[in-house]
Amino acid sequence: MTATSSSVRVAVRVRPLTENEKQHYAIKFIPNNEQQIVLNGDRSFTFDYVYPPAADQNQVYSTCVIPLLNKFLEGYNSTILAYGQTGSGKTYSMGIGLDSVMNSTINEGIVPRFINSLFEGLNANKSPNYSFQVYVSFLELHNEDLVDLLCPSAVKRTGYVSNLTIREDNQGNICWSGVREEVVTSPDELMGYLQKGSIARTTASTDMNNTSSRSHAIFSVILKQQVTISGSADDTTSTDLNNLTRSPSDQTLVSDSSSTPYIKKLTSKFHFVDLAGSERLKRTNAVGDRAKEGISINTGLLALGNVISALGDESRRVSHIPYRDSKLTRLLQDSLGGNSQTLMLACASPSDSNITETLNTLKYANRARNIRNRVVVNQQ
Ligand code: ADP
Repeated sequence: MTATSSSVRVAVRVRPLTENEKQHYAIKFIPNNEQQIVLNGDRSFTFDYVYPPAADQNQVYSTCVIPLLNKFLEGYNSTILAYGQTGSGKTYSMGIGLDSVMNSTINEGIVPRFINSLFEGLNANKSPNYSFQVYVSFLELHNEDLVDLLCPSAVKRTGYVSNLTIREDNQGNICWSGVREEVVTSPDELMGYLQKGSIARTTASTDMNNTSSRSHAIFSVILKQQVTISGSADDTTSTDLNNLTRSPSDQTLVSDSSSTPYIKKLTSKFHFVDLAGSERLKRTNAVGDRAKEGISINTGLLALGNVISALGDESRRVSHIPYRDSKLTRLLQDSLGGNSQTLMLACASPSDSNITETLNTLKYANRARNIRNRVVVNQQ
């Protein structure tokens, strides 16, 4: 068993001005520098990627998502977290809003692009020795209640996952039970589930005073791969799928003897998380339902920030990481830290009127830059 380090990547994307926004002087980008952003003339931040308003969906996808897709195909768990105030471009970037999933265009976001490239990558591996299965689930977390967006009743908000249990197996994988996981065999089918869940989310959200900005959406793709390898289990060069032998997140080998063919099985998960608007991350004077919502969003986003900060703190690495402080962090436990690839996509408005929220977003994203995930490579 060997250990390597891989970092959580942090990308900041500033969307174009909308029609109602005029002033945009407080945010500056440095020419020929794709990693720095300056606020109010003197607050400079450095991230793995900084996308100015002119950056298009393809640029974002090809620079920061394709590397994660490649790792996912090799067996790593992966997560993209879209963070930022409401209206900053999280849903647009992720491509899980109704506009994006109903009209496939060059403006489509990360998830629809991922769906197409995933099947291209899997089909390119086709061989008699190789098979794969793809599953999908789509959850919404609102007020610590989980809604299964693939349940027909989700539209009426009666599709709560009441019997959800979160369990950790002996390899540290988080297993959700009680959540609908649908099998998909083509990009169209997977896209169909993205549309179905997005429609359920939007319809219910409109009926409930636009809840979607106050809930977290988690679209998950689970990939199970199996390769039959001739030769001994130690002979990792004997497969035409070398990638699968190097970096499993969940790997099982089945062999009768060391000289007969054996089967290598890998399971990896990719979570796409459209987080609730970060403007809730502050004291409000809300009462009633809104106050309850505010508390639960605060709990989730603060816990996420604390987990991220704890993971980045070398001195606390081996001790307590507060995953259990919220349902959000518990659900994502095996995708933050450990054997996972994580991208935080911090979205921001270019407008001077939002500069305080933008500063908060950049400070929050800055905490994430310190994470160094310890990736354990299991060579069995
Ligand atoms: P959020 O999910 O953070 O609340 P949205 O993704 O709904 O925000 O974006 C708010 C508005 O801005 C939408 O009308 C969206 O189409 C538009 N928008 C966001 N980002 C971009 C972008 N990079 N380019 C063009 N329009 C964008």
